[in-house]
Amino acid sequence: MEIKIEDLKVLFSEEQLQTRIKELAKELNELYKGEEVIAVCVLKGAVMFATDLVKYLDMPLKMEFIRLSSYGSSTSTSGKVNAVEIKLPDLNGKNVLIIEDIVDTGLTAKFLIDFMHVNFNVKSLKFCSLLDKKMTRKVDIEPDFYGFEVDDKFVVGYGLDYDGYYRNLRYIGYKEL
Ligand code: 5GP
Repeated sequence: MEIKIEDLKVLFSEEQLQTRIKELAKELNELYKGEEVIAVCVLKGAVMFATDLVKYLDMPLKMEFIRLSSYGSSTSTSGKVNAVEIKLPDLNGKNVLIIEDIVDTGLTAKFLIDFMHVNFNVKSLKFCSLLDKKMTRKVDIEPDFYGFEVDDKFVVGYGLDYDGYYRNLRYIGYKEL
């Protein structure tokens, strides 16, 4: 499948994304009640979402970034997750909030959650994903927070790429098949 910019249909507009992000931030502010949070952004896809979300979080907060293997130029999952670059500070006793772009098969989310529990004795661990493709799940895992549910379509924009492109779009789009 090739995706050209003129083929893209808007799935979630800039306004819809920003409105929902503010709602999620409100829920997170209520959850953490001013306690310190370490926000772990999963590169590269979650970068737009994470940077917008944290602007509305009002507790003391530090940002960390980790990078895992991605789809490359393909539009279907390889089913394998490899830790490419995980350099994190000591997260023992911390409230850790993982910020991801999309949960598809759930393998990445499971890998990250297991990774945190194996390596750290965290105070709390929450998983927040902008999008949730519930229909394509292969492992039994649910994000604690998510922005929007999407059905089984390949989406791009607002951090999500196709062959490295379209991350800079302010909306989330898809190609109608
Ligand atoms: P999972 O491990 O849950 O199958 O996949 C998670 C990762 O696959 C996401 O972080 C994202 O990078 C990629 N991914 C899954 N679905 C899509 C999609 O529709 N569009 C894009 N651009 N990436 C996706």
